[in-house]
Amino acid sequence: MMTVREFRASFGDERQCGEQLSRQRWPEGFACPRCGGPSRGYMEARQVHECAQCGYQGSVTAGTIFHKTRTPLSSWFWALYRMSQDKKGIAAMQLAKEIGVSYPTAWLMLHKIRKAMRDRDQRYRLSGLVEVDEGYVGGEEHGPGRRGRGQAGVRTKSVVAVAVERRSPGPADPKPVPGFAALEVIPDAATATLEKFLTGHVRPGSHILSDGWHGYRRLREQGLGHTATAISQQDEPAHRLFPWVHITLSNLKRFLLGTHHKVERKHLANYVAEFNYRLNRRRMESDLMSRLLRACIAAQTITYKQLISAPELA
Ligand SMILES: [Zn+2]
Repeated sequence: MMTVREFRASFGDERQCGEQLSRQRWPEGFACPRCGGPSRGYMEARQVHECAQCGYQGSVTAGTIFHKTRTPLSSWFWALYRMSQDKKGIAAMQLAKEIGVSYPTAWLMLHKIRKAMRDRDQRYRLSGLVEVDEGYVGGEEHGPGRRGRGQAGVRTKSVVAVAVERRSPGPADPKPVPGFAALEVIPDAATATLEKFLTGHVRPGSHILSDGWHGYRRLREQGLGHTATAISQQDEPAHRLFPWVHITLSNLKRFLLGTHHKVERKHLANYVAEFNYRLNRRRMESDLMSRLLRACIAAQTITYKQLISAPELA
């Protein structure tokens, strides 16, 4: 955990934030991309290093989510701090108040950070024993009813697929513990959709544990081991057979309701990515802020226009 005092000491003003970005981007010190010359100094008003030899100006924000922002870097870093220090994240309204920007500005900042989190997690693949299930998130509190599994019933609810590694801590302690998780908003629970989700998030050769839903019946053809256990409500409720996916789903719902109250369906995937990012790093609290900063530096930015025109389930 980083205290507010520690945050202020490292990221208190524009110069410090620019220098933090510089250090991440040029660990050996700024070298001019045109002539290789050193920096004449960091110009905080323009967020550039000027080359001492040729005068070229190298931006510290180019190619990151902070590029072309009019919001001070110290406000951005505060948003990263709030997103990384609290497992509930932060609502746009609250961030707007804390850094003195409009609600739309805060909203867009948080979505840019979520995009960086999403980009980061897309590289990771689960392995070993993996529990999988789907759940219904958002919208009104009535389930898919009799319209069949994965139909999302009324169009207000979305289907989220959840896969969680089931790990054994060791032979002395046979009680399994949850490992990494992958969550994704999916259009339905059809066979092709679930196969795409699993092959995208789980390494070949892993072993999937699911209920008897026919959407999982062809997993062996996808290079995955598979054990299906039929659920009979009386003696083996699903939450006992697949504890981690069920705990994860209920924590996701609590996060969405608790912090954000109402999440627009088209942006749900980004909130799910945020939840997923922190969940997988819950034991890395002490350096989550610098990890998140690295993710934001590695991610291309996204504009408001791109965000609102993003396909619903991309
Ligand atoms: Zn130069």
